[in-house]
Amino acid sequence: MAKITLNQRRHIAIDVGTSKTKIHIENLGLVFNAATLVALDFKTRRVVAVGDDAKKFVGKLSGSLQLKYPMKRGVITDMAMLKLFLSAVLSKYKNELDGAIVTLACPTSVTTLERNSLIKSIKELGVYHVQAEDDVKLALLGAGVDITKPNGYLCLDIGAGKSTAAIIATNGTVCTKWSKSGGNSMDLDIIKHLKSKEQMLIGEITAESIKNSIATLIKTKEPLKTSAYGYDLNSGLPKEVILQDKDILKIVQSTFGNLTNLITTVLEEAPNELAGDVIKNGIVVTGGVALIPGVKFYLEDFFEIPVRVAKNALTATIDGAIAHKELTIEDMEFSSQKEEFF
Ligand code: ADP
Ligand code: MG
Repeated sequence: MAKITLNQRRHIAIDVGTSKTKIHIENLGLVFNAATLVALDFKTRRVVAVGDDAKKFVGKLSGSLQLKYPMKRGVITDMAMLKLFLSAVLSKYKNELDGAIVTLACPTSVTTLERNSLIKSIKELGVYHVQAEDDVKLALLGAGVDITKPNGYLCLDIGAGKSTAAIIATNGTVCTKWSKSGGNSMDLDIIKHLKSKEQMLIGEITAESIKNSIATLIKTKEPLKTSAYGYDLNSGLPKEVILQDKDILKIVQSTFGNLTNLITTVLEEAPNELAGDVIKNGIVVTGGVALIPGVKFYLEDFFEIPVRVAKNALTATIDGAIAHKELTIEDMEFSSQKEEFF
């Protein structure tokens, strides 16, 4: 039988995000784009649902059913659960996985040991090769930057459980820092705020929807408004409040204050030449929270360098993992030549 070249193998891109996992299979497209969440029957250890099907159980659990978030605030809190989650999602695509090449986007907050463990468990599903790459580097590639050039770019990826700032050049992450500030921390601050200001209890899903509708860093002509439902802490009765952008402005500003600190620390640690590149090339912002209006102006005003929010902020990482196919194959070829040489 003729030998299959690496290029003929199917490429699969996986982004294990702290809020959503995305899986793209060459020729099939995006086959999974849902919450990194498992509904588990803890008596039988059986996976009952994954992704958004599991999300339906939030706040409605009964019997022996448990909801597990394998990643929290940027770190893998339950490796066994993350493996169960990935294999439950991927097992539907056994034929496609067979002999495939996988580019896996991994947060920089995940340790090498954890990366290797994830690689091993995905390989066990019949895959030929798994290459783990920093999610922030892939996000920059997905935002349309040629990451292979010896030309430094700074990417700020503002996700749900964590945010990452990194300087990337010559297809590598040169320096990087991450922080727990991001979408989830803002949602939790909104919950706390309504508890103390309005004596009202709201859930995480409501808090996320408040953030996504009225968080802004610029003044709009008309104030942004939204209504939120929860429970009055004193009477226990359902309650509705109307909120405006100014009600959560401090939360948004304090998050972005943390993010500017994150960028500053990365710039301080960068070799001079690369810091010079960044001043010229500017900052590229990716991740769901980058969609908050005014991010570009806020960061440009603070750093006085050009800032671009990726048009595909929410999908930049998976788009980059898809685009990384050729580079993954090049790396594989390089590694096999090295083996022959030594
Ligand atoms: P991760 O890679 O960590 O899973 P993502 O980059 O997918 O995270 O971003 C998800 C986060 O972005 C969530 O916290 C979500 O609420 C937030 N988000 C999505 N859309 C918006 C929006 N329009 N405004 C503000 N935040 C948003
Ligand atoms: Mg991400």
